Amino acid sequence: MTSAENNLMDKIVSLCKRRGFVFPGSDIYGGLANSWDYGPLGVELKNNLRDWWWQRFVRSRDDMVGIDAAILMNPRVWEASGHVAGFNDIMVDCKACKARHRADHLIEHVYPDMKVEGASPKELNDIIKNTDIPCPNCGAKKKFTEARKFNLLFTTTIGSVEKEDATAVFLRGEIAQAMFVNFKNVVNVSRKRLPFGIASIGKAFRNEITPGNFIYRTLEFDLMEFEYFIREAEWQRWFQYWLDEQRAWLFELGFEATHIREREHGPEELSHYSKRTVDIEYHTPFGWKEMFGLAYRTDFDLKSHTKQSGTELAYTDPEGGETFVPHVIEPTFGLTRLLLMLLLEAYKEDGDRVYLKLHPKIAPYTAAVFPLLANKPQLVEKARAIYDDLRKHFMVAWDERGNIGKRYYSQDEIGTPYCITVDFQSLEDDTVTIRDRDTAKHERVKIEALRALLAEKLA
Ligand SMILES: [Zn+2]
Repeated sequence: MTSAENNLMDKIVSLCKRRGFVFPGSDIYGGLANSWDYGPLGVELKNNLRDWWWQRFVRSRDDMVGIDAAILMNPRVWEASGHVAGFNDIMVDCKACKARHRADHLIEHVYPDMKVEGASPKELNDIIKNTDIPCPNCGAKKKFTEARKFNLLFTTTIGSVEKEDATAVFLRGEIAQAMFVNFKNVVNVSRKRLPFGIASIGKAFRNEITPGNFIYRTLEFDLMEFEYFIREAEWQRWFQYWLDEQRAWLFELGFEATHIREREHGPEELSHYSKRTVDIEYHTPFGWKEMFGLAYRTDFDLKSHTKQSGTELAYTDPEGGETFVPHVIEPTFGLTRLLLMLLLEAYKEDGDRVYLKLHPKIAPYTAAVFPLLANKPQLVEKARAIYDDLRKHFMVAWDERGNIGKRYYSQDEIGTPYCITVDFQSLEDDTVTIRDRDTAKHERVKIEALRALLAEKLA
């Protein structure tokens, strides 16, 4: 990180705490490593992002339905998915860039002839310590932690811990499995025909030892995701289609093309279920980092759950009558990551003015209403009436403290796109000034036109 980039990250973290976007979790107890709480403005921004996503990718499409599933699932789900076995690798972490690597892959990558499959953590440690193997991610040498067995799934128990019959369960490591497990239920009730998707939003958990970079990598995180079920022959076409759609939404959100790139996963990096994976990465102050992922999961999950559960998860074509197991394209959108990257992208400085250039649809407040002077009851009363009317339809802030310039600065800093001021002219002709956050320019509009004007900005 250059000092300017470092600086930007510090500014965002400080702004988030000072204005109530994100607080350290359990703050009064000294926090809990890598846990964060969303404050009054953070929850609005997060919910607005979530709602836009749901509207764009679920409600407005004929080929998508949603579910909202439990976080705790039958442990056999995670055996079928491969997470119980597959998440048990021997891993090392790079202390320089925080990337985690499978210890055997690390060695075989540099010494292809050295066969280390089945070696113990100690044996792998010795090899890594006695060689100059660089981190494949950042190139750092001699920066690895001890190799150890690691399962990324969080475990907990149902029932009293002292009782012998207490059952161990996992907090879900991804939200995808609920969409596979419910495949038959959804097909039965929705009568969707291929291709179609099942969407879900919710928390997933990963017991990682090296999270970091503010809310980028955390133990629990919010995902927005769908499983898009297709015929195998069409996977390449749909892969490209969803890649384009993921990118398109980023541009609608206001990201610059030069801050985004695609990264294809190499064969050694692919998850156990994936035949092709592309990450959409964002240029953060701590390097290019994944914001969205896109994976072709084949028919791995539906087949595996059919085998494990004994319930056939297949699709019968209503026209031809043929029955088969659909393949799956999975676009994943990290909600909390997206929020961080949006703040980094939106942060602007214009002289001593700081503003967040957030799309009006996602800004915590759509507008703020001020009486020009707080000690003139007529102004306050009129402004209050506008505020009460607009807040039935929009998220609106009220401010009568200090001078008008300070109020503008305060709203700019949290990304409020429109500030509405009631002044003396308002008392005569029922007009107000409306100020644009990005240009800092004012125009005069009729009070009765305000609601339609704001609605149009959100469309
Ligand atoms: Zn590294």
